[in-house]
Amino acid sequence: MCISTAGAVSGRLGPHDREAIADSLRDRGLRLTFQREAVCETIFNCVGHICAEHILSAVSTNHPRLRMNKTTVYRTLDLLLDLGLVTEHKCGEGRAQYEPASRGRHSHLICCECGVLMDIDPDVAGSFRDQLRLRYGVQVDLESYPVVGLCPECSRGGDGSRSSGGTRSTPGCTGIPLMVGSHQEIMEA
Ligand SMILES: [Zn+2]
Ligand SMILES: [Zn+2]
Ligand SMILES: [Zn+2]
Repeated sequence: MCISTAGAVSGRLGPHDREAIADSLRDRGLRLTFQREAVCETIFNCVGHICAEHILSAVSTNHPRLRMNKTTVYRTLDLLLDLGLVTEHKCGEGRAQYEPASRGRHSHLICCECGVLMDIDPDVAGSFRDQLRLRYGVQVDLESYPVVGLCPECSRGGDGSRSSGGTRSTPGCTGIPLMVGSHQEIMEA
């Protein structure tokens, strides 16, 4: 399950990211092709997390002449994962979702209703981890596995169908780009 807001992610790669990506490809004797660049710019410009299917739809919208398909997207994702440029989150039965590795390791919440993947503020995750250790003597790995719960929208009794409502304009799969605890809408053009 992956929830898209159906908003295509657009915009070019920043020069710093572009350089870093081109450098790691070059180390493998590979080039930053138009296709690889299109996949990278989609992931890097997505404020939240995005699945392969929505990467493909964003690339097709923004670069209709680039002939991409699922296979080329997955192949590119495998390469980017291998190079350590992108991180992958597999959440239960849901589709894997991706984000730039430069965001660092962090904890996530996955909504069991709509499947949205949200970042958890490191301070919030840290104090939760500390509490569990102090109170129960357990060590939890909050970075490898997402916390399961209800996102703010589903908690409010939304129908969980972000993609059909059309009220959210945030690009990518998450709909909610920011962290738990600092939830706010980002209005993208
Ligand atoms: Zn998606
Ligand atoms: Zn939800
Ligand atoms: Zn994340």
